[in-house]
Amino acid sequence: MVSQNILRKYAKLAVVMGSNVQPGQTLMIQGDTDSNYFVRLCVEEAYKAGAKEVLVEWNDQATSRIHYDNATTETLKEVKSYVLDKTQYWMDNKICRLNVYSPIPGLLEGVDPQKIQEVAIAQMAPKVRQEFKQFSMANKTQWCLISIPNKRWAEKCFPNETSETAVELLWEAILKAVHVEEDNDPIAVWKEHNNVLHAHNEALNNYNFKSLHFKNSKGTDLEVGLVKNHIWCGGSEIAQNGVEFNPNMPTEESFTMPDRERVYGRVYSTKPLNYGGVLIDEFWLEFNAGKVVDFDAKENRETLARLLDFDEGSRHIGEIALISDDSPISNSKILFYNTLFDENASCHMALGAAYPMNVKGGLQMSEEELYAANANRSSQHEDFMFGSHDMEILGETYDGTMIQVFKDGNFVF
Ligand code: ZN
Ligand code: ZN
Repeated sequence: MVSQNILRKYAKLAVVMGSNVQPGQTLMIQGDTDSNYFVRLCVEEAYKAGAKEVLVEWNDQATSRIHYDNATTETLKEVKSYVLDKTQYWMDNKICRLNVYSPIPGLLEGVDPQKIQEVAIAQMAPKVRQEFKQFSMANKTQWCLISIPNKRWAEKCFPNETSETAVELLWEAILKAVHVEEDNDPIAVWKEHNNVLHAHNEALNNYNFKSLHFKNSKGTDLEVGLVKNHIWCGGSEIAQNGVEFNPNMPTEESFTMPDRERVYGRVYSTKPLNYGGVLIDEFWLEFNAGKVVDFDAKENRETLARLLDFDEGSRHIGEIALISDDSPISNSKILFYNTLFDENASCHMALGAAYPMNVKGGLQMSEEELYAANANRSSQHEDFMFGSHDMEILGETYDGTMIQVFKDGNFVF
């Protein structure tokens, strides 16, 4: 079993390097009941770091499944006003967040997809929910997403092991990915890691590509236009309150804003996508003028269709991210069934909303101004992986020069 020392180091890393809660600030932690032993350590570490108060929002996935199996769609669609009051409180009080994410892959497998979709749309509909989504995506305050194992997730990753061994193997893989070891200083490792990622962003920003061209043997042949004045981000960010934080742990990506209307060609997925508890696998999307005009999937095609039809922006992409195939998570050869890890093993893109920070001045722009800059807007953001060991990427500059960015799956600079 993982030692108490390691657990505490990881909790401290999440609170100090991740959310970076400031003295006098309130931290809200979202966690599953199965993760209670770890969430408690995060609460302690947050107070040690000077937090004024730590609020915990508990979720129980097994209970969520029971609700889906027993309550009507109409009941599940209801949004209680006291729940929205809480969300408003988080924004009014500029609290920062830590999400201890421990999803069960396929939690809702077998539930009527129509029901899942209707509930998801209704739950995202209230204005306060939309505002909170923008609050987070515009980095109004610090936030951080980390993961810890649960039994069913571990069994999915390591189906040939006993569940006890599977959980240990998943812990091992997660700790390696977030650079937590028995006798290292993970905070120092993360500072160095951030420097490497920032240098990568700077090189890409200097090229100021007009578009990127992706090709591999699986059949991907795709041109992704980038918005004018796009910014490559990755590693730590500065929130609008001036505090540095790491939104994702682990992270290996450099990502930017695609042009909502300039994506052409076909992309093939290389890892399954866990969407609302259902795994969509072996799929492709065909784009024209930025929009998905055709698609297919070997597994859960119906769910993919629902994802694409979620709202006006869900057939367009809001993020394009580059990750070398030769990266620590990719080299582990583990399929995590969890986007936080799998997206850091592979080039990916997201159907749905763009991050305002990925365009110059974006954090100060109104929603309309962002849209006019060709940022995509949607109430969802679903990353899927399409990188491979043989991915070739060419960057096209504004004067028409083609620059090799990836060769055989990896960055060339
Ligand atoms: Zn990403
Ligand atoms: Zn993303």
